[in-house]
Amino acid sequence: MRQSKILAPTIKEIPSDTEVISHQLMVRAGLIRKVASGLYTWLPVGLKVVRKIEAIVRSELDKVGAQELLMPVVQPAELWQETERWEKMGPELLRFTDRHNRNFCLGPTHEEIITDIFRNEIQSYKELPCNFYQIQTKFRDEVRPRFGVMRAREFTMKDGYSFHLDQACLNSTYQEMYRCYENILSRMHLKYRAVEADTGNIGGAESHEFHVLAETGEDLIAYASEGEYAANIDKAMAASPPDRAAPSEQVNQVKTPGIKSIDQVCKFLDLEPQNVLKTILVREKEEKIVAFVLRGDHELNEVKAGKILDTRLPLKFASDQEIIESIGCEPGSIGPVDLPIPYFVDRDAAALSDFTCGANKEGFHLTGVNWQRDIPIENDKVVDVRNIVSGDLAPENQGELKLLRGIEVGHIFQLGTTYSAPLKATILDEKGKKVSPLMGCYGMGITRLVAAIIEQHHDEGGIIWPEPVAPYQLQIIALNYQKSSAVREASEKLYRALIKLPIEVLLDDRDQRPGVKFAEADLLGIPHRVILGERGLSEGFVEYYDRSNADPNGEKIEVTKVIEHLRDSVGRIPSPIE
Ligand code: ATP
Ligand code: MG
Repeated sequence: MRQSKILAPTIKEIPSDTEVISHQLMVRAGLIRKVASGLYTWLPVGLKVVRKIEAIVRSELDKVGAQELLMPVVQPAELWQETERWEKMGPELLRFTDRHNRNFCLGPTHEEIITDIFRNEIQSYKELPCNFYQIQTKFRDEVRPRFGVMRAREFTMKDGYSFHLDQACLNSTYQEMYRCYENILSRMHLKYRAVEADTGNIGGAESHEFHVLAETGEDLIAYASEGEYAANIDKAMAASPPDRAAPSEQVNQVKTPGIKSIDQVCKFLDLEPQNVLKTILVREKEEKIVAFVLRGDHELNEVKAGKILDTRLPLKFASDQEIIESIGCEPGSIGPVDLPIPYFVDRDAAALSDFTCGANKEGFHLTGVNWQRDIPIENDKVVDVRNIVSGDLAPENQGELKLLRGIEVGHIFQLGTTYSAPLKATILDEKGKKVSPLMGCYGMGITRLVAAIIEQHHDEGGIIWPEPVAPYQLQIIALNYQKSSAVREASEKLYRALIKLPIEVLLDDRDQRPGVKFAEADLLGIPHRVILGERGLSEGFVEYYDRSNADPNGEKIEVTKVIEHLRDSVGRIPSPIE
């Protein structure tokens, strides 16, 4: 492709609405343009990267025998009503009516449709297991679209669904898909980590997320310093706290005038926050107010809390006014003693003895408080609801937990019969008995991957594409192409020869100053670069640069040897069936 003919509008300045480097570089290099919040046009060069990623994903899925199909973006409400997700999903599900006043939604995911296909087309256990996938546009009306295509409203996902007669078969496909995801991400030269994950509103039992490691990642993942354990912070659990010590103090009511926060309580009474309780009030499913009691140095994890209450996120926290109405004091003085509402206690808070908490009386706290003696505590109300912190003991003696930031690019689930049961998809087993098939489901964010790759592969000059996903493998920079016939002829000849190899070549034949061409080449990040200039050519040389090599000096190559050299250094174009 000739650069003079391609729409790749570059921008020198950092665009104002870009917070992360990948978004910045994608806009500056002319890969995407914003249409509206969370909606983007993929310009030609950006789309080439998307297609490369899709090809890698297809080739790895073909290897495990997954079949590609394509389901519609627009989905009828009836199917979502059968699984009750029409009611359960929040405003993220974009609903609308057609001209006949029938309800539809834009598909944020496709479990309902694939299960409908399955129930209509597959009847016998002999046809199992089967594994389907599509690469399709999804729409989720995200509360906070941000970071460009990383959290968009419209995006491309690879979503896959498998069907099984029994758990052993589901386990085996799940493992196979896990390895398949590892292969896909390795082929894109990504540093990633697979972690245990919460199943969110997709439902089901076992689940893993694949995170590309990056400081800008929206997710926190925890991993054990001495073991395999790794989990998303929304799921991660530290080792159980030690048993509660016996009470040694008596309850004492102390005046704490004007004290509102844990910090202030600690300063005022000279205490450590890990021995003070905090009580957080939220609304449960039926809008009633309930409390979570945690150690003062711990934070509530909303996903865990939402799961305990079986309520939709974001959590609805009680306002100060609601707290005063339901408890009779300001938020700074609440505590679990004689609390007039139901409460859950975090495991670590439940392990304390002789602790301090609010007295549910304006301007008072209680010290020397103990569970059971002073506050009843039921076993089934002791929960894990906090964020783990770096340094917590990992489960099963696997050392300490450490935290990393990650970008979730893939998520696999064991769904069981979460969808096949309500949608009444059945098969006849070996004995002729009707059973619901078990399902697995496998998502991968194709367009998010483009951003994730850039987060890991860039320098101050711009993008550094890993070769398997680069929009072009090689760029020829022809200096003074318009004016110098020697440069023009040599670069055209080289361009044609390289295309024949075949190598995917971008020829910079534009009428631009060398400085501009170099800066834009760095920004665009094509892995291999050959520079042709009048002086070099007259001496019989061209210059070769490897974009991933920080060495500012190129390699001089004899014009007569350039094809040979490039044939060796440039990887083959990945074939879609590789
Ligand atoms: P997140 O936690 O980031 O919102 P999710 O858990 O809701 O994602 P899944 O339902 O697991 O997402 O979707 C599968 C994959 O689709 C994700 O792993 C992610 O790579 C991608 N994805 C999800 N939401 C978006 C989005 N808004 N923009 C781009 N990609 C997305
Ligand atoms: Mg997910």
